[in-house]
Order: sequence, then C-alpha cells, then structure tokens
Amino acid sequence: MGSFIPDTLVEEIRNRADIVEIIGSIIPLKKAGANYKGVCPFHQEKTPSFVVSPLKQIFHCFGCGEGGNVYHFLMRKKGLSFSEAVHLVADRYSIVIPHTGSAGKKFLGRKEIYTLNERFAHYFHNILMKGALGESARAYLSERGISDSAAVEFQLGFVPDKEPGGARRIVTADINKDVVEKAGLYNFYRNGVANRFAGRLIFPIQDYQGRIIGFGGRALNEQQQPKYLNSPETAVYHKSGTLYNFHRAKESVKETGYFIIVEGYLDLITAYMAGFKAVVAPLGTALTASQLNLLKRLTDHAVLVFDADNAGLKAALRGVEVLMEGGMKSSVVILADGEDPDSLIRAQGAGAFQRHLDNALDEVDFFCHVSERKYDLTRAEGRIKAVGELLPLIAKEKNALRREE
Ligand SMILES: [Zn+2]
Repeated sequence: MGSFIPDTLVEEIRNRADIVEIIGSIIPLKKAGANYKGVCPFHQEKTPSFVVSPLKQIFHCFGCGEGGNVYHFLMRKKGLSFSEAVHLVADRYSIVIPHTGSAGKKFLGRKEIYTLNERFAHYFHNILMKGALGESARAYLSERGISDSAAVEFQLGFVPDKEPGGARRIVTADINKDVVEKAGLYNFYRNGVANRFAGRLIFPIQDYQGRIIGFGGRALNEQQQPKYLNSPETAVYHKSGTLYNFHRAKESVKETGYFIIVEGYLDLITAYMAGFKAVVAPLGTALTASQLNLLKRLTDHAVLVFDADNAGLKAALRGVEVLMEGGMKSSVVILADGEDPDSLIRAQGAGAFQRHLDNALDEVDFFCHVSERKYDLTRAEGRIKAVGELLPLIAKEKNALRREE
C-alpha cells in the first residue's frame, strides 16, 4: 500500500464503484426519492440527515457538513490513507492495480475466477441445450415445466458424469490449475480431477452486478446425495452474503415495492417466468443479516413464501426475525401442506399466487399462526407459553407503532 496510483486509474476505479453499495455495507441506508438517506456516522443524530446520491456518486451530511466521494467516506470512516481507500475499493470490484503488493495478488485471483466461471457456465449450458449428453437433463426440465427460454434466461447447465475434456478445455493458457481449484469447481486428486457437480443440473449464481460467482447443483439421480450442492466459499463466493436472482430482481422491485423470498431454485424460476420478477432465494440457508442489507438498499418490505411443514415454518420464523432486526417490514405467505410456489403456479396460475401475496400475513398475525399450531391457545398454560415466546420477538420490532400493535 501507499504506492503511487495513476490519476486515470483512481478515476476509473471510482467510476466502476457504487457509492451506495459501499456506504450501504457500512451503515444502513434507505431509499428516499432519487437518493439514499441514513443516520450520519460522523456526528450524533436521531433524524437522518446523511444523504448519498447514486447519480452524482457523492455523500453529504446536512447536519455536520461532511461530504465527498467514496474515497473521502472510507478515509474518514475507516481512518485510511487515500491510497489505502483506493485499494480497498479496487479490491471490492476486482480491479487490478498494477503493483506487486499482497492486495494486488488477491484481486488478480478473483478476476480469473470470474472469467473461469463465465466459461464454465457457457460450456455446461451448451451441453444442456443440445446433444446427447444433455438429454436426461432436458427431460427432467421439461417434466418440471421449465421452458427453453427459462433455461436460457437463467443460463442453466448440465455437468455429465463423463465430461468430454471438461477441465482440460477450461484450463487454458491464461487460467491455470491453481485458479480452477480456487474456484471450487473441480476437486483435484493425486490421480485425476473430478467435477464437483458431475451428474447435476447447474444454476449459475450471480452477484448484485450479474457476475457469476458460484454455482448451485441439483442431483438428477435420486440416489445421488445431497440433493442440492453449492460451490464452496471462495474468494468471490460468499453464501451468506448472496441472494439468488438478486441482480435481476432489483430491476423490478421498484414496481412491486417488495421483494418475494422463496426457498428453492425451481420455485424461483417458475415464479420469475410467471411474471413475479422481484423474487430472490437464500442459498440453502436461513436469511442472513448481510442478505437483508442487499434487500434494504432498494425497499423496506419483503414477502416470505414458505412451505407449511415445520422446516418451512422455522425458516420463515427466522426470516421474519432477521427482517425485523434490520428494520424491514415482512409479510408471510404460508402455502397449503405439500404445496410450493412451483406447484401452485402450475396448477392454479399466476393469479392464485398473486392472491396469496396480497393476503400475506403481517408479522403479528404470522406469530399468532405459529403459536396456534404449537400451543393449545384455549388453555391458559398454552397462552402463557405462546406469549413468552412472542414477546422477545416483538421487542425486536424497530418501528414503535408496529411493536405496540
Ligand atoms: Zn453528519
């Protein structure tokens, strides 16, 4: 660090960065018209007077007068030098600063992983879409009602058990074995290499900018375990900070005003293709605080759609809890036993799903629903237990009016 960085590069890095994304990862921001507002991190205040402009890529506090671009923010907030702030932003956006420091090496690797993932996605998408190798996977998709246009839109792919030269085709002069290993696609053994997703339908997972950061794989053979498998954590893929389909959903949330959160890849694709475009899915985990931060940049309302079984209710409960802690409004759709968004939309159409969304339970009604199922509320003992469980949850509600209710 501390090295000389040419002005043109400083500018380029600033142009490629998103000030809302960076400041929003440090302090909570809320959309207010064309700008974002938050509580100023540089002076004590209760009413937000700290404004970030996505258009001008600057911040300004009307309370204390602090302001500037993304570098100024990071220098002031994190106590960095100018050059350190530039490096930090470059690293975040995988921009290589031609310098041999350790930070330079780190993002060199990241850039190569993105490139490798793109090639991998493209290669296995082609296998899925045409030729004998993809036949079984195509049959599975048509059985599940996933159209060709959905497969293209989501760049679905298939990894056959025996790849025609797979790793060898991808490992080229500019991408070495080391990067392939770091990307988490292949496992290397003493006597060979095996694709982690062999025999699986694959779903490329993108970050908020649409770059492929990892993959989800679904087993097509019922004997294959586990049914779903994701990329391991890599330099670019962090499961807990990623929401599947977020980069597409963010374009549509302006119209709906809320995000729809579903559990699985196929539920998501069916909903998306039926016109519910502001839909996202956590990747095999309960909703996390950093996923919530992604959602919160664009809206303060999410509708959780979960199965009626106990696992579904538990995930929904956890989701509502996280949303409440983060100051977001949540509603919950609980589907009938054995139903998921995929089967519902197929059997009853988009209108039926929309009615479920319109009639979603708010937090309080949802908690009551859960308690009813769990405790016998006609008996005093059951009521006491239920209230004991709900009070700590309700205390997390940040909005005083809603908490009171
Ligand atoms: Zn201020």
